[in-house]
Amino acid sequence: MTTSFPESGKGRDEVLAALTQARAHDLASDGRAFAFVYDPGEHAREVARAAFAACMPINGLDPTVYPSARQLENAVVKACLELMHAPAGAAGTATAGGTESVMLAVKTARDFARKTRPEVTAPKMLLPITAHACFHKAAHYLGVEVVSVDVDPVTFRASVADAARKMSADVILVVGSAPSYAHGVIDDIRGLAALAAKHGTLMHVDACVGGCVLPFLRDLGVSGPDFDFGVEGVTSISMDLHKYGFAPKGISILLQRRRELRDAQYYTCATWTGYSIINSTTLGSKSVAALGAAYALIQHLGKEGYRERATRMWDATKKLVALVDATEGLEMVGRPDMNLFAFKTTGGDLFTLADRLTAKGWHVQPTYQYGPSPAHIHLTLDPENARRAQELGNDLASCSKDLPPAAEAPEGVVAFLANLASGADGVDTHAIVEEMGLGSGTMPAESAPLHRIMNAMTPDAREKLLVLFFAELFS
Ligand SMILES: *Cc1c(COP(=O)(O)O)cnc(C)c1O
Repeated sequence: MTTSFPESGKGRDEVLAALTQARAHDLASDGRAFAFVYDPGEHAREVARAAFAACMPINGLDPTVYPSARQLENAVVKACLELMHAPAGAAGTATAGGTESVMLAVKTARDFARKTRPEVTAPKMLLPITAHACFHKAAHYLGVEVVSVDVDPVTFRASVADAARKMSADVILVVGSAPSYAHGVIDDIRGLAALAAKHGTLMHVDACVGGCVLPFLRDLGVSGPDFDFGVEGVTSISMDLHKYGFAPKGISILLQRRRELRDAQYYTCATWTGYSIINSTTLGSKSVAALGAAYALIQHLGKEGYRERATRMWDATKKLVALVDATEGLEMVGRPDMNLFAFKTTGGDLFTLADRLTAKGWHVQPTYQYGPSPAHIHLTLDPENARRAQELGNDLASCSKDLPPAAEAPEGVVAFLANLASGADGVDTHAIVEEMGLGSGTMPAESAPLHRIMNAMTPDAREKLLVLFFAELFS
């Protein structure tokens, strides 16, 4: 790509061709990606694209100037409130993504506590270790302390008993996942919500990945823990429409059980010389295009369309889980309540298996060990890759044969990189990134050695190394 600011403009076709070319190595939506892609199928994708383009001129900053922004948001929020069995008086907001929904849920809890429990000076949240990283990010940004809650090492459900032990007068929020991203497991939301209610604290259910699937699985008779507003004590729920709502990136919904909670989520400012603001989310001027696409998809697919896709994904999940169970050398990590799950190798080298699957054209997600969760391969099913579940299953079975034994990362390299990441001055980060095979900015075809090293590092060293690597990619 041309990276400098050109003196004179180029033609439309030339510019668009450059974009097409730039995207040549991106993850394709061809049913072979078992992470990242949430594809409702070509026809629905086309509807979303047209809706996105139609809503491009809208600025969500001021719904009195762009009434369509308000209408779209109210319509989509209402549909989500219905799915989550919200009581009368519940309210919601369209956000830019799951991370923003979660950050706003944490902000709500913090600010609601400031108002109603002024004695709390060091706010804390009870957070299962399986909860999404964005809660840690929220805690970091908002000055809320994370109190980690253990999970059962077999089911990976949050331990309500451990949460009860760690409950204190400073806790402003209890969190549960429906389901967790890594293992696809729904926490005991009833148990966690009862604990929160008993202590007069708020409870957020992270249904970012599950919110647009679980209600339809329940319609189909697939059972699992209750997780929505039907559970007393649940005070907010996040659900990402840019995952299984199938909308383009940039749209999630945060629902609050009561309007006064959403008031605590809002931010207003009249102490400057420009226009007075009230923002429901972190952004000021904001696109409503993805919200418009979400609206179009909800209307176009209807519950039937979502149910049909949920069935396909769940059937494929059951097929793959059964295959993992039946394959020597593979083992499930937890049991999914939805169409995403984790499995590991028992003896054979996990990261070699991941490389073999990559070589066969599949995109899977190797994930590192943390706490009781071992290094594993994560698979997310979507309506399109579900069609290829048998094909992936066949390759999974053949690739897991004759795996070399799990290899240790070279200790010297791990120590060297950890030391480097912790801030050795004058290091040629560019050379190191090249040496690691990451010079092109994508993972090398043989990424097992790299994953092995990352997996062996402490979380702290891993975080620092990521900064080094990421900063290099963007320089
Ligand atoms: C994806 C996800 C998030 C974060 O959402 P983003 O849209 O990536 O910001 C939070 N929680 C869970 C369970 C998720 O799967």
